[in-house]
Amino acid sequence: MSDETTAAGSPLVHPETASPVFRYGPWTWAEPRDGEHFRRCSFCGCVRPDDLAAEPAWRAEWADRKYGWPHKFYVDIPNRNPEALFVTSSSWGSTARALPGEVPWDELTDEQRAIYDRNHRPSPDGRHPVSVGFGPRPNHFGKFYTIHLSDPALDPAVKDDIERRSGLRFTFADGRVGWGPVG
Ligand SMILES: [Zn+2]
Repeated sequence: MSDETTAAGSPLVHPETASPVFRYGPWTWAEPRDGEHFRRCSFCGCVRPDDLAAEPAWRAEWADRKYGWPHKFYVDIPNRNPEALFVTSSSWGSTARALPGEVPWDELTDEQRAIYDRNHRPSPDGRHPVSVGFGPRPNHFGKFYTIHLSDPALDPAVKDDIERRSGLRFTFADGRVGWGPVG
């Protein structure tokens, strides 16, 4: 990967992250983690547009127009390693609540513990579930914030591809968002 992946993202996309009082600094494209193969925005978790455009098959599920405009869609991204295991459930409080098939915490293998730790920050007070369930994941749960289409660094061909496949085209000018069906 080039330096591009760690460079600060455009303040036009997330102005709040450019503020000197924002403790995490400007947003960036974070490298894939948690068993995913695509990058995400360090601030909002949006799938990187280039990586979404490179996916062969997906369908946009538009979310509510919370801000009066279609700001977000959800997208299932097929897992390229369908045999890999993920945490699918966890039970807390009492072993009596454990779901069938879950592994008791004290019996987790090193590999199972590593899978759990990958997705969960250590609790400061050492709390952990009494048992954990594991299973494969056919699709990764992606989301896309359309404000990322306003990124001046975005390849116009990538913007066009995402607009065609999601069904809506966007314009961003003078701080205003415009959108309409792809003609
Ligand atoms: Zn973002």
